[in-house]
Amino acid sequence: MTETETQTQTETDADADGGTDTDTALDTTIYYDDDADREYIDDKTVAVLGYGSQGHAHAQNLADSGIDVIVGLYEGSSSRDAARADGLRVETPATAADEADIVSVLVPDTVQPDVFEKIQDGLDAGDTLQFAHGFNIHYNQIQPPADVDVTMVAPKAPGHLVRRNYEAGEGTPGLVAVYQNTTGTARKEAVAYAHAIGCTRAGAIETTFREETETDLFGEQAVLCGGATALVKQGYETLVDAGYSPEMAYFECLNELKLIVDLMYEGGLSEMWNSVSDTAEYGGLTRGNQVIDESVREEMESILEGVQDGSFAREWISENQANRPSYTQLKAAEEAHEIEAVGEPLRDLFAWSDSGGANEENEVVSEPEAAADD
Ligand code: NAD
Ligand code: MG
Repeated sequence: MTETETQTQTETDADADGGTDTDTALDTTIYYDDDADREYIDDKTVAVLGYGSQGHAHAQNLADSGIDVIVGLYEGSSSRDAARADGLRVETPATAADEADIVSVLVPDTVQPDVFEKIQDGLDAGDTLQFAHGFNIHYNQIQPPADVDVTMVAPKAPGHLVRRNYEAGEGTPGLVAVYQNTTGTARKEAVAYAHAIGCTRAGAIETTFREETETDLFGEQAVLCGGATALVKQGYETLVDAGYSPEMAYFECLNELKLIVDLMYEGGLSEMWNSVSDTAEYGGLTRGNQVIDESVREEMESILEGVQDGSFAREWISENQANRPSYTQLKAAEEAHEIEAVGEPLRDLFAWSDSGGANEENEVVSEPEAAADD
């Protein structure tokens, strides 16, 4: 990435794009530490609204990078004590935003519009409204004033990893996007912010609010959260209905999925195919497309359409306005699925094997080592 490319993109964004943010860049730009100019953030005050997963990580990493940070939390928030214990100054969201040059909106997406109402008077011309996910801007749930910059710096990991990697001197890959660039320096400031929270150590990929929002929603619906759980449940039910034991069905269709995904994560599809038996490889290669066939592709296209035309967003917004009746019902049904009751005792058997992965507290990891020493 050269300075020229960055400059060209900034201009394209400001002129042609004008904040409508509809283009998807064909040439991917990735920013590393050397691309960041910290002068665009070092003298600024950053308000971090929310102290949850992303909020605690951004606030502490920024502070450790020497940036003036104010955490914005409503009176009575249980996170206030945690932020103070971490040595950070805490104010209400309105006060924090008023004093800050950059307002990083890291409360849950569903409450961001309400929080924005409370802080918008504190946004001065040239301030920055910053997000870690594009939903509310892309679907017009937040309409920022025309004289502020609107940017995104979104680590591609939960906050505890963003913090842990930073403390270890390592980075977390992230995304950078500019929706509104009134100052002309929005992108440089966003890249500097990405530097200050550790993202440019690993690489921050340039994207747009539209691309981030739509790919994120599609991925979680069709492949990751929705698709994967549906595949697991269908496989489990097929085996159990055919008379096999629920425990065997659980291991085959849920537990072992992690091993397969780990291989794909480490070395792509090829590493997975090369690591399983030839029988598994031949069976998978010949039968996979029978399960996930063309009709599934058509359903995926229809899911993507619902993301693109805003109908999913409208559905989710009205679901929230109605106090989440469907969400509550679906969540309860999912929790009541037999595979959950079957899995719980079985997972305890395997708790020791989760070293460094999903297992946060590493205390059990030493057990097999201790056993080996005996
Ligand atoms: P979270 O749910 O972990 O934390 C939200 C925090 O906001 C709470 O801890 C609390 O301090 C505060 N809060 C909660 N309810 C509030 C209310 N009604 N009013 C004011 N403050 C309230 O949120 P998160 O997962 O860190 O998500 C923050 C943003 O980061 C979202 O836009 C999300 O899409 C994005 N993001 C999250 C992740 C992730 O892995 N969690 C990754 C990338 C981006
Ligand atoms: Mg301000």
